[in-house]
Amino acid sequence: MPDPDSHAVPVTRFAPSPTGHLHVGGARTALFCWALARRLGGRFLLRVEDTDRKRSSEAAAGGILRDLAWLGIGWDDGPELEHQGETLGGDERGIGPYYQSQRADLYAKAFEALIEAGMAYPAFETEADLGAMRNAAVEAKQTFRYRQPEGYDLEASLERMRAGEEHVLRFRMPIDPVVVRDSILGDIEFTEEHTDDFVIRKRDGMPTYHLAVVVDDELMGVTHVVRGQEHLQNTPRHVALQHALGYRVPVYAHLPLIFNPDGSKMSKRDKDKAARAACKDRKLDGPPEGTVAPEAFAKWMKDKKSQLESGDLIALASALKLDLPEIDVEDFRRSGYLPETVCNYLALLGWNPGEKTEDGKDLERFDSAFLAEKFGLERVGKSASKFDRDKLRAFSQDTIGAMGPDVFEATWRAWLAEFEPAVLERVGDRFGVLARAVQPRAKTLRHALEPAAFALVDDDGYDFDAKAVKKALHKGDPSGLQVLMDLRPVIEGVVSFTAEGIESAINGFCEQREMGLGKAAQPLRVALTGSTVSPSLGETLASIGKDAALARIDRCLAQCVQGAEA
Ligand code: GLU
Repeated sequence: MPDPDSHAVPVTRFAPSPTGHLHVGGARTALFCWALARRLGGRFLLRVEDTDRKRSSEAAAGGILRDLAWLGIGWDDGPELEHQGETLGGDERGIGPYYQSQRADLYAKAFEALIEAGMAYPAFETEADLGAMRNAAVEAKQTFRYRQPEGYDLEASLERMRAGEEHVLRFRMPIDPVVVRDSILGDIEFTEEHTDDFVIRKRDGMPTYHLAVVVDDELMGVTHVVRGQEHLQNTPRHVALQHALGYRVPVYAHLPLIFNPDGSKMSKRDKDKAARAACKDRKLDGPPEGTVAPEAFAKWMKDKKSQLESGDLIALASALKLDLPEIDVEDFRRSGYLPETVCNYLALLGWNPGEKTEDGKDLERFDSAFLAEKFGLERVGKSASKFDRDKLRAFSQDTIGAMGPDVFEATWRAWLAEFEPAVLERVGDRFGVLARAVQPRAKTLRHALEPAAFALVDDDGYDFDAKAVKKALHKGDPSGLQVLMDLRPVIEGVVSFTAEGIESAINGFCEQREMGLGKAAQPLRVALTGSTVSPSLGETLASIGKDAALARIDRCLAQCVQGAEA
């Protein structure tokens, strides 16, 4: 097994293709690469693999960089966050640029070297030719593997290539087996039937992923390639290219895949799947108003593999009041998870620190600094990990609960400003008390809106729960309704309408009447929120404000007294 510590400067890298959002699998890879570099005292670099010009976009690259920054995964070398044309660190060391689309001259040298060494050759088959070859293989019940045709004339082909004829450049894959030495999976031998003479330069002149990744890992001094197991089949190709080009072979580590709890692969399409199922359930034959264009909707409903634009999908889910499963980092942010919680949970997908808590349980809660100190490939598991949303939510609730109240207030405010600004406008200067009221119940920053709902409705925008009314208002002597009537002037008279001021007035009222606090609290809760569940009385009232509280009490009295008389 290669010794990870044997290189002078360990360098890890995260190399996303900017064809969409950063998803959990990618985020976990980035986190592990970052942590490994920190642990080994090395560098972590970021490279944008945008050789697929049709599917790549600058916007996607920017989104990925921002998502990484949000997670707190900083890179030593790579594009600058807000000035993507500029680079960090690597400039002085001459290892940029970090966009593969800007590295054509470096790949050109590798193409020349491989042609020179007789390891690469042009191939002129059209897509249609290749299709026919594939079909023939299928008919013969064989897997199609391209090999240099017998009688291939290299000189003549090179001439055609130089004359500008359309072609791809292929690598002559050695027939001998290639052994991939993987730090997690051990040695894996790939024989001839796993590989073919794969394309290294596409028709458009761009390198393929295989060539670019190998050249860049070499030139950027990458010592450890840590990536998902979905890339394992690519690695023998990369190792063969490294041998052909006289490059080092870095340490490889392929991370276990991430599955949904039901055993299916966690995929970007899961969100579309959930939304499509909800539309079917509700027997929708068209899109809800103001969401998706009808034709796009119809097409998407029919084609199970298709995906809606992310904005359209969010609009659709919100119209259907549907929580989509979080897949991309952006989804977790939108759902109100804190970056530290997400990183902590992601780290456990395939790794564990192997330590115990004081009460003898497996240590699972830690921050990124701990991860950077402890992470190593030796504790990464081989088998797939399950993404357990309930566990993530429990982590999130713990993290939120442990925050200082001021920190929670500032964090929630910032989140609302981005995702639900109308809430801030509505609550105005009562926001601080509302934040304190909901913090103990909040599972995520978005979920905090549920315990806060009482403060976000119109004063006549909720119903009084019939059971609660019966129990809290119509029973007892004096009845809850009577208590509520007597409390109204007390509340009206509170000068400093803060949680403490309100509580002390209500306590005074109860003491004077030698009455338990519950006798006052339950009728008030029903009047103010419609039910008997709400944060502490003082916080509930202060979150609503005096005028609204009185209006709500009046509406309750009007409705329930009538109800009692009827
Ligand atoms: N660009 C590849 C991807 O996004 C990753 C390449 C690698 O890590 O080698 O899947």
